[in-house]
Order: sequence, then C-alpha cells, then structure tokens
Amino acid sequence: MTPHVAVVGGGWAGCAAALTLAEAGVAVTVFEASRTLGGRARAVELEGQALDNGQHILLGAYEQTLELIERLRPAAAPAGLWRLPLTLEQPPDFSLACPRLPAPLHLAAGLFGARGLSWGDKLAAARWAHTQIRGTEDTLDGSVSQFTATQPEKLNRLLWHPLCVSALNTPPEIASAQVFRNVLRAAFGGRNRHSDLLLPRQDLTALFPAPAAARLTERGGSVRLGCRVTTLAAAADAVTLGTRDESAVFSHAILAVAPQHLPALAAQVPALEPIAQQVATYDYQPIATAYIQYDPAFRLAKPLYALSDGPAQFVFDRGQSHGQSGLLALVASAATQLPADWVDQATAQVQRIAQPGAARWRKSIVEKQATYSCVPGLPRPAVTTPHPRLFLAGDYTAGQYPATLESATQSGVQSAASLLETL
Ligand SMILES: Cc1cc2nc3c(=O)[nH]c(=O)nc-3n(C[C@H](O)[C@H](O)[C@H](O)COP(=O)(O)OP(=O)(O)OC[C@H]3O[C@@H](n4cnc5c(N)ncnc54)[C@H](O)[C@@H]3O)c2cc1C
Repeated sequence: MTPHVAVVGGGWAGCAAALTLAEAGVAVTVFEASRTLGGRARAVELEGQALDNGQHILLGAYEQTLELIERLRPAAAPAGLWRLPLTLEQPPDFSLACPRLPAPLHLAAGLFGARGLSWGDKLAAARWAHTQIRGTEDTLDGSVSQFTATQPEKLNRLLWHPLCVSALNTPPEIASAQVFRNVLRAAFGGRNRHSDLLLPRQDLTALFPAPAAARLTERGGSVRLGCRVTTLAAAADAVTLGTRDESAVFSHAILAVAPQHLPALAAQVPALEPIAQQVATYDYQPIATAYIQYDPAFRLAKPLYALSDGPAQFVFDRGQSHGQSGLLALVASAATQLPADWVDQATAQVQRIAQPGAARWRKSIVEKQATYSCVPGLPRPAVTTPHPRLFLAGDYTAGQYPATLESATQSGVQSAASLLETL
C-alpha cells in the first residue's frame, strides 16, 4: 500500500516525527488526544493569558530542538527563544556566570569568579568538572549523590545537586550519574554556546508544535485534535488504529505517546508486549509551576534566579521573556514532597530576593507525571520495534539525555528516519 503514516501523539516527539516524514514527501496523519498540541510542553490559557503547563528552559546543547524551531520560523518573525550565557544567580549566597571563552575554559573562569565559594571549593569543582567532561568513556552505574560524593558539601548543595534536579527532574540520591555526566558533557564539553540557557519568548505550543503542524498541513498531512487512539492492531501489511468514532488503516504507525500511556496501546500488539512491560516499570516525578501576577510595573533585576530554602528552585520573570509584565513563574522540580501551602512558601521565596508588593492572582499547575525518574540503568527502548510497521518516539526512548525537549525531538526525528529507511 502507498505509505501513509499515523503518528499517535502530538507532543514534541510526535510533531518532530510527523514534520520529518511530511518533509520527505510521505503522507502523515497526527492523532492527538488533547485539544492542544505540545503534550507535556504546551500552552494553557489562564487569566486570559497564554501561559504554559509548566515553565520550560532549554540548553544551548539542545541542537536538534533549536534547529527545528529555527527551521520553522518565518524570516521576519522575532526570535522565539532568548539566549543567555549560563548564569546561576542565587541571592544572597551564590552566583556563577560563565564568560564568552572557549569551553570548558568558560566553566573554569565562571567557577573561579563565583561568589559564595571558597578557593578550595572552586579548585575542587574545576578539577572534578574537568575530569568528568574530558574523562574516560567508562559507564557509571551509580547515583548522582555517589558520583559527587567527593565534592565539598557546599558545591553539591549550591551547584551540582540543583543542576541534577533541574536537568534530570530526579533527586540526586536516585538520579543516574551516567545521564547527569552526559548532560555535563553536552553543556560544557563542546562549544561555549552549548551551556547557554534559552528562555522561550512565546508559549510552548507556538514555539514548535503549532508551526510544525502548519508545515505538515501545507505538505498535505493532517492533524486530528481531540482524537484519542484506543485500539491498535498490526498485521504484516498494515496497521489499524481505532478511535472512539472510527477505525482507519495505515501503512505504518509511530507511537509518540508519553511512556505512562504507551503500555495501554503497545500491549495490544503481541510483538510489543515486552516493551510495554519494560516501560510499565517506570516511576515518575512531578514538576509544579506557580504563576504569580504582581503589579505590571514590577520586574526582577534579572530574567531568572535560582532560589534556596523552599519548594521552588527557580523563578522566571515572564515580563522580560514573554512581555507578560509583572508575571513570575516559579518552578519546583522533583516535587514529590510538595507542601499544601507551596504557593505561599514560593511567594515568601520571592519576597526574600525582591519587593514585588501584593500578588494580584496566583495559580499553581502540578504535573504529577512530568517526567520518568531518570534512575541508573533505566531500560530505554529503541525507536524501532520488533514489528516492522510500528515505531516509537518520545523522551524515554534510548538516548543520552534525560526526559527533555531535546530527547523528545531527537527521538521523533530518529524514529521518522528509521521508518523512511524501510520504504
Ligand atoms: C512541568 C514540566 C516542566 C518541564 N520542564 C522542562 C524543561 O525546562 N526543559 C526540558 O527540556 N524539558 C522539560 N520538561 C520535559 C519535556 O516537556 C518532555 O520531556 C517533553 O515534552 C516530552 O515530549 P514527548 O513528545 O516525548 O511526550 P508528550 O509531551 O507526553 O507527548 C505525548 C502526546 O501524546 C498524546 N497522547 C497520549 N496518548 C494518546 C492516545 N492514545 N491517542 C492520541 N494521543 C495520545 C498526549 O496527549 C501528548 O500530547 C518538562 C515537563 C513538564 C511536564
């Protein structure tokens, strides 16, 4: 039959896969259960404003994601991302800023210039980081806590462990040292720009999924929103998908659903049962975002700060990034022990670094299964499956990164490329 691919799931992985196929001239239909594209990185409307289900940040090393965003951006449109050299500012205890020097010299210079660390700490951090970035290819089996055990307590508290929580969304005691080192190497072992922080300037659906869907439609593809796939059957020559209203036959399918939703679909195909069982063993970590609206005249001195002593680890000024004046987004990652009054506590964290006045409104979004726990030895399936007409895409498939936009887009592009090779 003529190739016509169903992509199940319109998150960043599904959109990257569908775009890649459509640009290669293959017919594609995307099925997305929700009414909005973007999955775990999507726009939500709150208080009449386009916000996100969770504040996101990208790293300069996320090359696949950045390339896709750039490729879809009309030449005259303002940049969708705001690129900042790596700065970790945690008043009043700590600040680190990496200057524009070749990597990894920029990290060494940042560490030596850091405020809040003794010379002994700085030296220990620079030596350790250098070994990890330039070190051997041996596999690390343990946790981030074990990996960083030789580092001074203060460095772990102020730098390595907060980096682990924000990059892997997993507490250092159970987070994979191997994946953490992959992130350190990607950020600090390549070009200077790889450690840059990139803040979205638009809502997350507008940043990539919506323009990807527009390009797909231009190329003859289609996107079905509010359309959950409930049944999946795969034969030697075709794949049949069922939704509440209909069933349709395709030449291939890419399952681009989150890992928590994969088993229900994959277990319907005998060849995919082992993958379904493997992925069903994953644990998940929450991420909470509090939006706090202050007087529009209020702004933080910098677009983002790291925070200590509280449930939130970062605060972002959406006035500076998105033009949403007076609006702050506070993020609590790996938030398994989130207190009931967490927004009050997060508000107090802001008041310790600024004088914003009274809040006009506050909203909290808790994504309970924001990402899988990125633990040592987590089995991550390949994008190809034992069934030649079924492929996977998503942030949990095999790759060097933890659950991030980059692991999702890399997976989507790889999945589509593997499918194209079979045509
Ligand atoms: C609050 C929060 C903050 C985060 N912060 C960051 C960050 O700062 N930086 C970063 O890089 N990453 C961050 N992440 C992680 C990042 O968002 C994810 O890794 C990425 O979005 C995963 O994309 P995906 O396409 O693999 O999966 P998903 O986004 O989960 O997409 C799967 C899609 O499939 C759809 N679906 C499921 N079942 C069906 C079905 N049966 N039929 C049809 N459709 C279906 C879902 O509705 C969903 O749209 C964060 C995540 C959260 C939740």
